Amino acid sequence: MAPFENFVPAVAQALQQRVAKPECPLCKQSQWVINDVPVSAPVFEKTGEIKFPGSAMPLAALICRNCGYTALISLGALGMLKPNAAAPAATAASAATNGE
Ligand SMILES: [Zn+2]
Repeated sequence: MAPFENFVPAVAQALQQRVAKPECPLCKQSQWVINDVPVSAPVFEKTGEIKFPGSAMPLAALICRNCGYTALISLGALGMLKPNAAAPAATAASAATNGE
């Protein structure tokens, strides 16, 4: 299985649970594309430096198909950094055992 095979559906599912109508802040359309792999932003060290390679924040990139505006969503906030959390099947099994 490719490492990010279930990434897009997992991000879409996590966002649908949290955002009622994901509208682009620039053009007000709702034509988002989720980049098929995560992206990362370099994180400053406490010393003020950025090291390459160094710490990075894992993100999902949502791109507005109409105007190109790109939103970066924290995978940590979506709960997708836990083991197996990116696999929709594992999420569904977990939800079933929790009665959710
Ligand atoms: Zn837009």
